[in-house]
Amino acid sequence: MDILVLGCGIGGLVASNVLKERLGDRADVTVVDKMKFFRFPPSYPWVMLGERKPEQVQRKLEVLRKKGIKVLTGEVSAIDLESRSVQVNGSGLSYDYLVIALGAQYAPERIPGLLENSHHIYDLDSALRFWRALKEFDGGTIAVGVSSLPFKCPAAPYEAAFLIDHYFRERGLGDKVRIRFFTPEGLPLPSAGPDIGNSTFEFMKSRGIDAKFKVKLKEVKSDEAVFEDGSTIRFDLLFAVPPHICPEVVQRAGLTDQTGWIPVDPATMRTSYSNVYAVGDITAVPTPSGFVPYLPKAGVFAHRQAEIVANNLAVEIKHRGREKAWDGGGACFLMTGGGQAGFVKGTWFAKPHPDIEFHSPSRIWYMQRVLFEKYWMRHWF
Ligand SMILES: Cc1cc2nc3c(=O)[nH]c(=O)nc-3n(C[C@H](O)[C@H](O)[C@H](O)COP(=O)(O)OP(=O)(O)OC[C@H]3O[C@@H](n4cnc5c(N)ncnc54)[C@H](O)[C@@H]3O)c2cc1C
Repeated sequence: MDILVLGCGIGGLVASNVLKERLGDRADVTVVDKMKFFRFPPSYPWVMLGERKPEQVQRKLEVLRKKGIKVLTGEVSAIDLESRSVQVNGSGLSYDYLVIALGAQYAPERIPGLLENSHHIYDLDSALRFWRALKEFDGGTIAVGVSSLPFKCPAAPYEAAFLIDHYFRERGLGDKVRIRFFTPEGLPLPSAGPDIGNSTFEFMKSRGIDAKFKVKLKEVKSDEAVFEDGSTIRFDLLFAVPPHICPEVVQRAGLTDQTGWIPVDPATMRTSYSNVYAVGDITAVPTPSGFVPYLPKAGVFAHRQAEIVANNLAVEIKHRGREKAWDGGGACFLMTGGGQAGFVKGTWFAKPHPDIEFHSPSRIWYMQRVLFEKYWMRHWF
């Protein structure tokens, strides 16, 4: 029995670990990634502040081999659903079950001037580059925002704004640095509902961060962000979440729908192709009772979805145990600077609306956020 897991980010790492643990010799579990490392994006805000070094936020994938997981480094260049095979490094790999966890790809080139004139922390090198820029910055306007929807981690750009604000206050430059936020969203964290969105907005105001909602970035000049409605923000430094797209290899395989992402059954992550599952950022998961039509992209969801898929495959292959259905459960932190973090937890498929609780920023949630990183860097390796 060959199980092929494409991508070894958060979803693929969990899926391959749980599959091997549950199936042992009953299945060959192969995970393919173009990178030799697993990197933990929730640590990038700390990289942005110089509080983490690259080696602290990454682990070698080859370590997984000691668990019996086959690790293949290479680019997935084609997926053939008819012949049940995948092309990697020019060779064909056949599968009985396929778990696709290739995440989202960035497409900054879709917005003229974005690549040349902006920073972000959506990959490790960019987070390191932004750290160098922040260290050199000594006053002016920093625009922080989201170029287009969807994007991963609903809290990340807000978190970045709070952390940047705190960083400059600590450096004694609070009066000299102005942060202006922009986003196509109607409120912060729209998938968590208007109460949490309004509380976060009030908190931004209390920190002197002004925000422009419902604006879509059209063009970036060397010192100005231009939006589709004709409005602009002048900046001295720009942080902009780049546009996200589904990896082209998945689009070419015909797995995507009008959303541009892979449609799946929300409870099981099955695609419409037999024995093919997709988890994490690459999926479009409808939330019929949600505040937004599709689940936001987040590692916590990729993690839970991967556990469900691995459990259900193990049950199917071993004819033992019970299949599980995912309830849309998840949680996330919102770091606000100075060793404080808020916490959002909920069940996104609850009816009539997602059942979500918000805990105001405190030291306790920040400590939990630190433990969350420790868990990820140790538990799966
Ligand atoms: C700054 C930041 C902060 C975040 N904070 C949080 C947080 O606090 N909580 C949270 O829940 N989420 C957070 N996230 C979001 C989280 O990181 C993602 O949602 C999560 O990583 C998605 O997991 P995934 O497995 O779907 O994709 P990924 O983790 O992106 O993994 C995809 C993998 O596929 C590989 N790949 C892609 N294409 C190919 C190819 N053609 N061939 C071979 N390999 C390929 C990539 O190299 C990658 O390793 C954050 C993200 C960022 C950027």
